Amino acid sequence: MSKKKIAILGSTGSIGTQALDVISQHPDLFEARVLTAGRRADLLIDQARRFLPDAVVIADESQYQYVQEALADLPVKVYAGEEALCQVVEGEQIDIVLTALVGFAGLKPTLHAINARKAIALANKETLVVAGELVMQRALARQAPILPVDSEHSAIFQCLAGERSPIEKIILTASGGPFRLMERERLAAVTPTEALKHPNWQMGAKITIDSATMMNKGFEMIEAKWLFGVSPTDIEIVVHPESIIHSAVQFADGAVKAQLGMPDMRVPIQYALSYPQRLTLNTPKLDLFTLGHLTFEKPDMERFACLALAYEATQSGGNKPCVLNAANEVANLAFREGRLGFLQIAEVIAETMARTPFVAEPSLDTYLATDKEARAICADLIAGLS
Ligand code: NDP
Ligand code: MG
Repeated sequence: MSKKKIAILGSTGSIGTQALDVISQHPDLFEARVLTAGRRADLLIDQARRFLPDAVVIADESQYQYVQEALADLPVKVYAGEEALCQVVEGEQIDIVLTALVGFAGLKPTLHAINARKAIALANKETLVVAGELVMQRALARQAPILPVDSEHSAIFQCLAGERSPIEKIILTASGGPFRLMERERLAAVTPTEALKHPNWQMGAKITIDSATMMNKGFEMIEAKWLFGVSPTDIEIVVHPESIIHSAVQFADGAVKAQLGMPDMRVPIQYALSYPQRLTLNTPKLDLFTLGHLTFEKPDMERFACLALAYEATQSGGNKPCVLNAANEVANLAFREGRLGFLQIAEVIAETMARTPFVAEPSLDTYLATDKEARAICADLIAGLS
């Protein structure tokens, strides 16, 4: 395997830092050529000193000079702003773009990378929630492979290796989050601190809240629909609190293939980077005797109304999932900042979905406009509550 040259969008985040750990475990196989951050300039500077990429981007333009001066003694180009994110992924020297930034901000750079025919290691699921059809069409047209990083989708991808038969059913597992067993009355009063304590995974704040509301699983259902070309009715969500079975695929003969392992995102990150090879990885290994047993439950769409909203959005299609995502980004942040109750997250998203004009066949410009409009509507709704 020749050395793969990697651009990490969001290198300062949870996925980004774990990807750098994978890269540092295989310096003979991987090189980080581009690193980008949102606002954490000091961490980006440390990473640049350690990995010596060709270029770094700080999305927050006000920190450009600070980063530039800190790296002035190194042959590292420094850029800032959203446009720069779109340009650095197109560089000739890049083989794989790992999209590890969070939210709608991932859409444009991902489309640029696809256009430049890069392989996409896709962590940024919001891109597929918002514009799955457009992204998959462009990836097909440009022959840009999309390799899933999300643990469930990596599991499905691994189950499909070597298969030529169609999928009969996807079994998408969910941990159920920290509030899996909590009664609805109690849910109304949960705090951001409680919601940020995920039982099995250490992740960025936004996705951790999405896991607590189970919007994350709704997003993953939509992500699976686009990645694997299946209908939502052929995706069964199974709550599996141990997070050992990362997901499974059922075929026509009733055979079910599952992928198991300890919950460690470095496994799917590395698989996306090394595919079709498997490499060694310094990570805790699965011991079934210690586990003893695995459990499974049905998801509760009443307590976790965000899951039902994700089904509603994908059934409507058009720009509805884009509205779902935009409202969720606004509500998720408002909850984290103490401006919105936990159960109100689903309420304001539902209301935003009802109020934002529907567009059946959206273009990229529609998505950009819808995202703006839905954010404004949702922000107004939240302001009106307090
Ligand atoms: P984090 O919040 O930990 O990291 C996000 C990264 O994106 C940071 O580097 C951040 O920069 C950067 N960023 C944030 N906003 C912007 C912006 N507007 N423009 C440019 N860069 C930005 O998130 P995670 O690593 O947890 O998640 C990343 C993606 O991966 C998400 O889409 C998530 O759903 C998905 N994912 C994550 C998993 C996990 O285990 N963490 C599992 C499966 C999927 P900075 O911090 O410097 O501001
Ligand atoms: Mg996941």
